[in-house]
Amino acid sequence: MSSDEDQHVICFKHCEKNVFVFSVPSRCPLCNQLLEHCKAILPFALPSPFVNATQAPCSVVLRPSRGDFLRDFRNRTNLHIALTDSKGSIVEFDTPGLLCTTSKHVDRSLWGQCLVIADVPDSWFCHWDSTLLRTIEDKGWNRKSYDEEKVNCYSFVLFFLRLLKFEPFMVLAKDMETFSKELVVPKTTHAAKYITIHRNVTKFGFWVEPDR
Ligand SMILES: [Zn+2]
Repeated sequence: MSSDEDQHVICFKHCEKNVFVFSVPSRCPLCNQLLEHCKAILPFALPSPFVNATQAPCSVVLRPSRGDFLRDFRNRTNLHIALTDSKGSIVEFDTPGLLCTTSKHVDRSLWGQCLVIADVPDSWFCHWDSTLLRTIEDKGWNRKSYDEEKVNCYSFVLFFLRLLKFEPFMVLAKDMETFSKELVVPKTTHAAKYITIHRNVTKFGFWVEPDR
C-alpha cells in the first residue's frame, strides 16, 4: 500500500467552497491567502467509507476482485463479496471453493479496504456464527459447484442471509437483482464519491467540489 492510501482526506472552507486536502496548507490553494489569518475554515476529517474486514465482525464485506477500491475501482463489475464471523475471520466462496482466514488460505491483506454491505447487532452474533457454520457444512460450496456466472461469491452470501433470517436482509437477499439494487449500489455509490475526492487530492494536491 502506498502512503497516499493511508492518508485521510480533510475538508476546509475557503473562497465559499469546500476544499479537500490531505493536510491543511498554509495558504488557500484557490486565492493564495494565508489561512492562519482566517478564523472559520472549519477543517474536519472526511470519514472514510472503508474498513478492514477483520475489524468488522458479523458483516457482509465487499472489495474489488483485483486491487483495492481507491486505486482500482471503476464500476460495480468485478466485485468480490464475503462474510466475517464474530471474531473477524473472513469466509468466502471463490474458484477454489470455500476459503476461511482461519485455514490460512485467505490473504487477509486483500481485505484491508472493504465496504460493509450489511451487519447485525451484537445480540445476533451467536446466531450469525452458528448459521455460518451450517452454511460452511453445507456440501454445496466446493470447487466443482463454483460457476463464475451462476454459483459464485454472491450465491454463497445470499444463501447465508436467507438462512440467517434477519430482516430486512432476508427479503433483500431473495435474488441478486434486489440485493444489488438495495444494498450494494447505495454503498458503492457513496464510496465512489469518496474515491473521486481521494484520487483528485492524490493527483492534484487539493480538490474543490464543482459548482452545481
Ligand atoms: Zn481561498
